[in-house]
Amino acid sequence: MNDCCTNKDNAGNKPSRQSATSHCCPSNGQPYKSVKRKTLLHHVLEPWINKISKQNYYFCTDPCCDVVYFGEDNSVVHTDKLRTTVWQKSSDKNSAICYCFGISKALAQLDKSIKKFVTQQTKEANCSCETSNPSGRCCLKDFPK
Ligand SMILES: [Zn+2]
Repeated sequence: MNDCCTNKDNAGNKPSRQSATSHCCPSNGQPYKSVKRKTLLHHVLEPWINKISKQNYYFCTDPCCDVVYFGEDNSVVHTDKLRTTVWQKSSDKNSAICYCFGISKALAQLDKSIKKFVTQQTKEANCSCETSNPSGRCCLKDFPK
């Protein structure tokens, strides 16, 4: 059983008053960067049911952690509550690393010139990472070297 992602009750935690740019994942305890609420709304399954309250959210990239998003209040969104496959959480080589243009890990590895295309689109501001990428960030750093 994978219990690295057991949801712990952090009742004793004092929430930070200022909006922190990073916050620790309630599941693995590591700090992760913030992500916009708008990004969550584009990836969470049935957001009218799985409510995304108005607060700061963070994106956990740990492949062994089942939590994708977590809030300042330590509420969590697990992989099974998303309609997007998050490549950081998936061992599937065909899961997308570039969500704007539908480029998989495998494809990026096979054809290194694809990165040039993405770099060009980034320069021309044709990307929509903030909403397309579940991390809310540009995918260029995720491309294989
Ligand atoms: Zn985590």
